[in-house]
Amino acid sequence: MAVTTGEAGLPAALGGTAAFPEGLPLTRVEVPDREELTRRFDAVLDSGQLTNGTTVRELEEAAAEFLDVPHVVAVANCTSGLMLALQAFGVAGTRVVMPSFTFSATAHAAHWAGGTPVFAEIERDTLTLDPADAEAALAPGVGALMATHVYGTPCRVEELQKIADEAGVPLLYDAAHGLGSRRAGRPIGGFGSAEVFSLSPTKVVVAAEGGLVATHDEALAEAVRLGRGYGNPGDYDCVFPGLNARMSELHAALALVSLRSLPERIAHRTALVGAFASRVQGLPGLRLPALAPEDTSTWKDLTLILDAEAFGCGAVALADALKAEGIDSRRYFHPAVHRQKAYADLPEKRELPVTDEMAELVLTVPLWSHMDEATILKVADAAIRIQAHADQLPK
Ligand SMILES: *Cc1c(COP(=O)(O)O)cnc(C)c1O
Repeated sequence: MAVTTGEAGLPAALGGTAAFPEGLPLTRVEVPDREELTRRFDAVLDSGQLTNGTTVRELEEAAAEFLDVPHVVAVANCTSGLMLALQAFGVAGTRVVMPSFTFSATAHAAHWAGGTPVFAEIERDTLTLDPADAEAALAPGVGALMATHVYGTPCRVEELQKIADEAGVPLLYDAAHGLGSRRAGRPIGGFGSAEVFSLSPTKVVVAAEGGLVATHDEALAEAVRLGRGYGNPGDYDCVFPGLNARMSELHAALALVSLRSLPERIAHRTALVGAFASRVQGLPGLRLPALAPEDTSTWKDLTLILDAEAFGCGAVALADALKAEGIDSRRYFHPAVHRQKAYADLPEKRELPVTDEMAELVLTVPLWSHMDEATILKVADAAIRIQAHADQLPK
């Protein structure tokens, strides 16, 4: 259907009827198969073993099979998984090259592992790390390269691997959004030196709180396993200062149940994004992150990229107008990490004009795995109404 902007009704911000008077949140967590979950919770509670039991092991094995990697180590959250992997790489005292257009935890993990973040640019179309700028940022004294599969879009893994190999540094993926994404048919999880997933409630597989470290490197898996338990090999003679980053048995039970229906959930999310994209096709100044035809995404987020001039208003004005419709939104990721107070005093500052520009243009709108198509189309129609009247919105 062509967009007939001239006939679009008034947006709620200008007195029209709100699309969702009852409100539409950014995300809704679905816990599938409550009966199976209850059975598993009961089994854990009956066993009397709330950590270090068999459920975490079962989750690790199920995830390793799903991801087609030999080693998966479950941890308390993605942040601690990244910290432990970076610690194992020995990044303490080194610089860690990473995108600034990511969640703050990517940089925090490097800091806590004793490294110093050095930020590199992203690509305008995919919003993932720009291999050319990452290469430019790699210099002697760099201890690791990190990249984020932003919103579930696979990074340019082949080019990044080449750059990391040439520099002789490990490549660590913040795969928080990518559990279920594929790069040319291969699951995200098997690339680089390791990939770390998040199972927190805004992600597509949930453990309430949790993370998974996936790797082909047995020694690295062993180091993360030791590190999640204080660095204690069992005799209390700790071999390095680790963390308590264990996942509990109850969290693992939730993750196991959530993981089982992941392929169906991703298929549904993909269909919803497809329906949204066809509805807004032809709308000036609005696009979605590019996904290579051979790749698949979890669509962890449905993020709009605006060309403010063509669309008629910027991300902030769109967010306000969507709010009047009852539609929640977030500026993922604004401010970019290099603009956050926590990183105001970094020793090495690189100019990041593309990151600065893209951070101004993004707005994430609601999407969840059991949303129905009518809802996503109502969000699209609200965007169409807002665009048609964008010049009248409060500036
Ligand atoms: C959610 C998220 C994290 C942090 O995950 P936790 O499991 O909450 O530690 C890290 N990186 C990205 C890109 C994220 O979105």
